Amino acid sequence: MNETEKEKVKEKIHVKMEELKARLEELYIATKPMGLDSAVGRLSRMDYINNKAIDEANIRSSEEKLKALERWLSLYDTDKFGMCTRCGKDININRLLFMPESTRCIQCADK
Ligand SMILES: [Zn+2]
Repeated sequence: MNETEKEKVKEKIHVKMEELKARLEELYIATKPMGLDSAVGRLSRMDYINNKAIDEANIRSSEEKLKALERWLSLYDTDKFGMCTRCGKDININRLLFMPESTRCIQCADK
């Protein structure tokens, strides 16, 4: 990866982090416990519980992505930036631009 490419990836990481933070904020609000005084019927309560489980799964995956992005930023000035955590080879630039939260190359991704 050359300097221009690194800059591009870094920019992408920042954009993605902002997106994830905004999304997490919404999810944190959505999963806040319902107050006892909220007048909801039984059905909407079931909806709420179902949605809550989905939201909580989304929170976990978003938090993980955010952590991966923070990790990349902390490595920015080292030669490990953009390197696969498994095999140590360069992660394809297009993969990083498309999914900057990837910490593994395509070959290692599903191992
Ligand atoms: Zn790899």
